[in-house]
Amino acid sequence: MTNHLLDVQDLHVSFDTHAGEVQAVRGVSFWLDAGETLSIVGESGCGKSVTIQTIMKLLPSPPSQIKSGAITYQGTDITHLSDKAMESYRGKEFSMIFQDSMTSLNPTMRVGRQMCEGILRHQRVSRQEAQQISAELLGQVGLPNPELVAKRYPHPKILFADEPTTALDVTMQAQILDLMNHLKEKRGTSILLITHDLGVVAKMADRIAVMYAGKIVEYGDARQVFYRPSHPYTWGLLGAMPNLIQDVKSELYAIPGTPPDLYAPPKGCAFAARCPYAMEACLKEDPPEFACGQAHASRCWLLDPRAPDVTPPEGIPPLPKGGSDHV
Ligand code: SF4
Repeated sequence: MTNHLLDVQDLHVSFDTHAGEVQAVRGVSFWLDAGETLSIVGESGCGKSVTIQTIMKLLPSPPSQIKSGAITYQGTDITHLSDKAMESYRGKEFSMIFQDSMTSLNPTMRVGRQMCEGILRHQRVSRQEAQQISAELLGQVGLPNPELVAKRYPHPKILFADEPTTALDVTMQAQILDLMNHLKEKRGTSILLITHDLGVVAKMADRIAVMYAGKIVEYGDARQVFYRPSHPYTWGLLGAMPNLIQDVKSELYAIPGTPPDLYAPPKGCAFAARCPYAMEACLKEDPPEFACGQAHASRCWLLDPRAPDVTPPEGIPPLPKGGSDHV
């Protein structure tokens, strides 16, 4: 039995397509506690959005399918809940900010009041009539007890935010992030934040999980992952971050190559084809998790005590050697 608010264990999610099975999520495990922000980072197509949409049951099945693993919320196994049963969680316990965050409800105002404002602006009705129309609309979309829903704040226990600041200007971006932090601090809302923007992660995250090709390849608290990153993919992501002292004429670093095809994931480490440190062992066997600090772990053979010493990119401390163990 888990004590975490949300616990995901060894989740495997695939899509059945005409071309074959796409293994989008390949054994993802993480937890989220009350009032904390976990950020999942990685390039597009690494399985971040599929992971949270699977938890929220937002993916049509078929073609998506949970192959194995468990999702537990407040001690209840919700892995295979039906869409109908999940309705009691969505909105009340879980809420989602999609990439187009301007279309979400403001979590600091009652649902009914936000709806009334729109109606009053566009229709010649009294406030009382607007309230009646809002309740009718909430009823029409199948929400039970619409009068009660209208009085609620859209406050969830867990806010799933999928690239919430994409395509927003910096002012709006800062407002959205401040609002999310406000919810966390004042209401104890937990946040599962998905982004590829490490600047956003630095502002928001307590813990970070770095995802690549359907797996979490490094996780730890935010300071550990930023200041003592221990996976070459994380080094690449950090190296690709623009900084203010950079020569404006210099080219921004990009990790060479592209992520592997998840129709047929490679046998060994999925990052090997793009990794400047790849060794023979990397092509043969997928690395297990190696502990590299307290609650900090990485899936990289370089952390194996038998691996040769390597020099990480400038500014990154050497990898912990010899003391690393499988988690
Ligand atoms: Fe690179 Fe090997 Fe580590 Fe994979 S396991 S990230 S290929 S060094």
